[in-house]
Amino acid sequence: MLKFVTFAVKLQLNVHDLNNEAVAGNVMDIRMIEFLNEAGEKQEAPAVSGRMLKHWHYEAMRSLILNGVYNVSLCDGCKAGEPIRPAKISSNKLQQISEKESKIIESCGICDIHGYLIAKKQGKSEARDELGEGDNSSENEAPDNDGKDKSKKRNQTKSKADEQGISARRSSRAMFSWLMPVLGVASTVKQVIHSRVSQQRSEAEENASQMIFSKSYASGIYAFVSALDVERIGRVDLALEGNANKYQRDVVKSGQRINRIKAALEAYRLMLSGQIGASLSHALPHCTPTEVLVVCSEEGPLPFPVSPMYSDYIAKTAGLMPAAERSKIFLYSGNKKYPDGVEKKEKIDEIFEELANMVKSDGTGAGI
Ligand SMILES: [Zn+2]
Repeated sequence: MLKFVTFAVKLQLNVHDLNNEAVAGNVMDIRMIEFLNEAGEKQEAPAVSGRMLKHWHYEAMRSLILNGVYNVSLCDGCKAGEPIRPAKISSNKLQQISEKESKIIESCGICDIHGYLIAKKQGKSEARDELGEGDNSSENEAPDNDGKDKSKKRNQTKSKADEQGISARRSSRAMFSWLMPVLGVASTVKQVIHSRVSQQRSEAEENASQMIFSKSYASGIYAFVSALDVERIGRVDLALEGNANKYQRDVVKSGQRINRIKAALEAYRLMLSGQIGASLSHALPHCTPTEVLVVCSEEGPLPFPVSPMYSDYIAKTAGLMPAAERSKIFLYSGNKKYPDGVEKKEKIDEIFEELANMVKSDGTGAGI
């Protein structure tokens, strides 16, 4: 049974606005980040936060589950795609619920995999209701143009909640780096002027009814790494709950646990196709995944892979991973050279097939 999997991905993205979040008037700019190249020199280029990537993995899982590809139970917050989670609808309002970790993850596959944070509500404070987010506050951060103000407000309420203590949290089983430009490859950013024209106008009002705004679009070759701690999906840490003689305790049935793992893996496939933006309706990125290096283990946790933003990441990742009995390395990479111990795949689908073959009932699970 699969226990841990890591992804190291290189994608070319042309004309994307994945992290358009700096808004000044009617100009929307793309997020730039400073970093060092392999010679240690400072660079600046467009980048996309790991919170954003995590958000799009969450969205991909939701889409697969809500469309019936995988039978996975969800809480009302995750069904609605709202950042308030775990949550239930009560009196037509989505409200965060505070229950034992085992109860929450039994009822929601996304809260199980993506984690959550429930802040303690004390006295007359409404901090928890306002905070309403998991440890991956990603859902709040990404898609909207007004994200900046929201995030400011969130930070204020968050510190308020921190003062009052945290009553429950679950760490995410899916981990993401930032999406960073590959070193030594140029990235470009270009600002474009859009106009929206209202149809409900008289000729005299024509000029006034045109809304002119600017947006930036970037192009480049990007890298990200991600890890999925499969072993801890559908399970609670015993340090926190129960005292059985095991590190983890199953709280969902084996079949449900397998469906959750499959949905989490399949969500990566959607991400590789460029389903990672808030502007998919009108600025779907021109995406081509150029290299996908996957390391997986049926034995236990693995180191994170070396990032594909570095030129020698394949050899270095292969050199970092434990011996073949403990890990398998698959690579999709066109004609790129690869070191011993790496299994070359002609299609990305073959990698997902290998992973799916490792996800099977291993006789564990609650009440099989
Ligand atoms: Zn949920």
